[in-house]
Amino acid sequence: MTMTDPTTSRKLLTELPGPKSQALHERRKKVVSAGLTQGFPIYIASAEGAILTDVDGNQILDMGSGIAVTSIGHAVPAVTDAVSRQVADFTHTCFMVTPYEEYIEVCEQLAELTPGDFPKTSVLLNSGAEAVENAVKIARLATGKPAIVVVDHAYHGRTNLTMALTAKNMPYKDRFGPFAPEVYRVSTSYPLRDGLSGPEAAAKTIAEIESLVGVHNLAAVLIEPIQGEGGFIVPAPGFLKGLADWTQSNGALFIADEIQAGFCRTGEWFAVNHEGVIPDMITTAKGMAGGMPLAAVTGRADIMNATHEGGLGGTYGGNPVAAAAALATIRTMRENDLVGKARHIESIALPFLQDLKATFPIIADVRGRGAMLALEFCEPGTLTPLASAAKAITSYTNSRGVLTLAAGTYGNVIRLLPPLVITDDQLREGLAMLAEAIASI
Ligand SMILES: *Cc1c(COP(=O)(O)O)cnc(C)c1O
Repeated sequence: MTMTDPTTSRKLLTELPGPKSQALHERRKKVVSAGLTQGFPIYIASAEGAILTDVDGNQILDMGSGIAVTSIGHAVPAVTDAVSRQVADFTHTCFMVTPYEEYIEVCEQLAELTPGDFPKTSVLLNSGAEAVENAVKIARLATGKPAIVVVDHAYHGRTNLTMALTAKNMPYKDRFGPFAPEVYRVSTSYPLRDGLSGPEAAAKTIAEIESLVGVHNLAAVLIEPIQGEGGFIVPAPGFLKGLADWTQSNGALFIADEIQAGFCRTGEWFAVNHEGVIPDMITTAKGMAGGMPLAAVTGRADIMNATHEGGLGGTYGGNPVAAAAALATIRTMRENDLVGKARHIESIALPFLQDLKATFPIIADVRGRGAMLALEFCEPGTLTPLASAAKAITSYTNSRGVLTLAAGTYGNVIRLLPPLVITDDQLREGLAMLAEAIASI
């Protein structure tokens, strides 16, 4: 294992990717499916805090957290200790065969942390897509209705049902169909592009649901409170509340997909909290278990418990090692006030990004909350997406050791998802590199 040098942030010993990474990349091509996104092919040997160390000994500043997963930082001792202890105790029994306490404790934490002052129960699963699938299953059973409404730019996963729920064709859906039926797509609020207030956008969306679906057929509206892969789109204030109130007062369920925005990322435990929205069900994954695979559906007990015994489950769901990691992650988030830390990151990064927007006319929008922030690039003075800018920027920063991610339906968004434990110096260093990249194009 390579040790991180904590006195520095980035440290480049070779060009990126270095020779050892390049050799691994050649090996990979023979045996790993070409269908996987190639990302940035530096192969990681170890990681700590906000720093990734690759097989060539280069230290890279991580501004992506493995897509909002390692929010508490890499290799956090509280988590690695909890995982090691649990591995030594036992690694698997299958909760449906012989249960264990850690599963219950994670569900207790979810019931306490998620919004809503009513009894809640949860089911634990392995991936975000599996959580979304289960939320849809439960919503249909509990309401006795078939229709699921999703919105433009949505991302909910890559399984067959979640491909149907996801908006973007390439690369997620193209030629992988046919897709599951009874999924209806309607408009969302996208302030940069629709110019509507929250209530106006909600009225438009509701009118579309009424005409396309009919409320008596509607099981649930499923929505990311801040869209992730779709481009960190923050709906106009009042949109989510208007849509949730209408949905819930018409006998349907409001499901918030908090898989990317949840668990402290936006400066609240959950992104719906910013809007005072109380969903009937919430799906979580990514940031909740410090990098171990764990996901959940948490919801009103009467809805969650409507399912028959044996109707929900899976071999590995709520695996004891992943559950132990989640408990240590949640404890770390509480003890280190990572909700407050996400707000602190926003207080440094957002004004910096707004200054960039004032300087560079290709930046059409700066948006996001907490440590979930983005820049959208367009041809100056228009809303014509400029995907080439996002591509050039990620490639500029990545090759200089600051890992950034692109996103967006049009591929023209740079998203920042730093670990919440990033230091102020590291954050400023990452932002400066971003500014340099924009200036270079
Ligand atoms: C990542 C993501 C998913 C899918 O999660 P997986 O663990 O990749 O299956 C679903 N919804 C949202 C909002 C996501 O960001």
